[in-house]
Amino acid sequence: MSRAYIEFRNVFFRYSEDQPWVLKDVSFRIFSDQWVAIIGHNGSGKSTIAKLINGLLTPEKGEIIVDGLPVNEDTIWEIRRKVGMVFQNPDNQFVGTTVRDDVAFGLENRGVERREMIRRIDESLKAVAMADYRLQEPHRLSGGQKQRVAIAGVLAISPQVIILDEATAMLDPKGRKEIMDTVNELRTQERISLVTITHDLNEITQADQVIVMNQGEVYLEATPREVFLEETLLQTIGLDVPFVAKLANELNKDGNIISKQPLNQEELLEELW
Ligand code: ADP
Repeated sequence: MSRAYIEFRNVFFRYSEDQPWVLKDVSFRIFSDQWVAIIGHNGSGKSTIAKLINGLLTPEKGEIIVDGLPVNEDTIWEIRRKVGMVFQNPDNQFVGTTVRDDVAFGLENRGVERREMIRRIDESLKAVAMADYRLQEPHRLSGGQKQRVAIAGVLAISPQVIILDEATAMLDPKGRKEIMDTVNELRTQERISLVTITHDLNEITQADQVIVMNQGEVYLEATPREVFLEETLLQTIGLDVPFVAKLANELNKDGNIISKQPLNQEELLEELW
């Protein structure tokens, strides 16, 4: 039985007292072997959630628990060792002069022994198909390659939870799928949590659970299939359901156009995906 790895309890946050709340009474739980997608349009509070998880920000009210520890000044370094986070803009995240040094940085900070360090760097760069670039300067890479290296940096530290905040946005669909398959495989092997943050409903299909954010509040929490069934509800907050899900919803309406028999929506979605 898995346990809650990350828990938000009635969290309120604003960037300053004279500004409106950015998160309002946000509560949710993420379990230790789950893939949870957090979705919402720009400004709905998704990145703020990510920054609260590893203590880059502190809630004004409410509590955040990671691996049984309340996130506060005393626990923050322990929690950061457990949480690997990649943000959208990889340029802000590079510290090394070569790709290899950059991936090494997180390991040096954790006091990993040299031989083990080399093994982990090689393995994680291979996992994101960047092993041939190990001696390149990070700033010479393309946006997508930089994102691959940033993800390798997180894989190398073997975290308990990986948070990807629009971290594959610069990759093409094929590259994105390859990276997500790799990260997801690691999740199931190591039984860690994966949190992906996105504004694109196409990217939630493989998640176990979806948290839909709207204007700083949890608008909906459900499986991807249940989310896609809420087409009208999602449209009211500016989120567009993917074409195949729309088609599946449409075909399943009464008097559907394909079959005299009512279609099983779940089976149809399975077929179409
Ligand atoms: P999302 O990730 O969903 O796009 P964010 O969490 O980045 O949303 O932002 C939520 C809200 O907080 C937005 O209105 C944004 O303008 C505001 N915000 C984000 N960062 C800051 C900041 N450093 N200072 C003040 N307001 C901010």
